[in-house]
Amino acid sequence: MPVPLLDLVAQYQTIRDEIEPALRSVIERQGFVMGPEVAELEAAIAALTGVPHAIACASGTDALLLPLRALALQPGDEVIAPAFTFFATAGAIHNAGGTPVFADIDPVTFNITPEAIEAAITPRTRAIVVVHLFGQMAPMERIAPIAARHGLAVIEDGAQTIGARRLIDGTWTHPGQLGTVATLSFFPTKNLGGWGDGGMMLTTDAELGARLGRLRLHGGAKQYHHDEVGFNSRLDSLQAAVLLVKLRHLSAWNDARRAHAAYYQDAFADMPAVCPPRVDDANEHIWHQYTIRVERRDALMAHLKDRGIGCAIYYPLPLHLQPCFAHLGYAPGALPVTEAAMRTVLSLPVYPELTEAHQAEVVGAIREFCG
Ligand SMILES: *Cc1c(COP(=O)(O)O)cnc(C)c1O
Repeated sequence: MPVPLLDLVAQYQTIRDEIEPALRSVIERQGFVMGPEVAELEAAIAALTGVPHAIACASGTDALLLPLRALALQPGDEVIAPAFTFFATAGAIHNAGGTPVFADIDPVTFNITPEAIEAAITPRTRAIVVVHLFGQMAPMERIAPIAARHGLAVIEDGAQTIGARRLIDGTWTHPGQLGTVATLSFFPTKNLGGWGDGGMMLTTDAELGARLGRLRLHGGAKQYHHDEVGFNSRLDSLQAAVLLVKLRHLSAWNDARRAHAAYYQDAFADMPAVCPPRVDDANEHIWHQYTIRVERRDALMAHLKDRGIGCAIYYPLPLHLQPCFAHLGYAPGALPVTEAAMRTVLSLPVYPELTEAHQAEVVGAIREFCG
């Protein structure tokens, strides 16, 4: 039985009856850009995350770019970021006029470490982009004080962590509560995916929130009056309508991902060749990816593909070794933990609609490979 890595058609079938009336309402009104659905979505995400100012924009990439632009980076200004992440994290730093400085990650959670951040700080450092990778948060309770001590902004790239939280001093804390700004992506493959591109910025700072709201509309609070030069980074009403329907299911979908992860954790307990992912004790994980580590990764991947089982390498080439960043001067070996992860990681299907039969198929194929 083939098992895809993700099955958006299966998800659509479960919500078809709810989503079509929501879309029809936008279509009948012919109000396609920044309509009432957008404000409703912003309020709903603010309520979900406990971060009061939520500003929708055109993509998760723009959600990183706008707050970085708001920092008015000067040539040579540095922004610390992990290299084990999707390209947008560092692309946005470059496009905001900054120089990415890559820091290594924790081998267990794959998240950037406070120690690596601290070691990368120089007099030119202006900000840190913390990526909460694969669905669990980095230790913000240790990163935020480092940033405060050095006067640095913290942008939390939460593209993969909508609904994830971390127990900090006895309080469940979401991305955006300790950082300057947190971002979300509504790219179709994310845990809350639209039917196209979309993103959001979250902040507790009302003034910064208002500024980001202007930056997404060509820098003007009032139409045809521009306080600064911004961007066209609006969210479509049709996307917001889809996302509002899907948001009602997000918590159940994240629970289903958790159940699938628990099934794999059990199954891999007696397979020493497979190193299953670990959840940091303080985290509630949303399993955007279920990522194992295996020494003979490429052989396992070929074996699974032969049996029609979807799997993927996130990420096959870390950002410090990308050709476009060759001028930054990183050589192989510069980030050893990142590079070890690059060679051994493999993400398995963990999407909500996955059945037990699907999971048995995946586990059976891996067991067969391990011999
Ligand atoms: C998906 C993703 C982004 C970019 O989001 P888009 O909506 O595709 O622009 C940024 N960072 C991370 C970690 C992502 O996974």
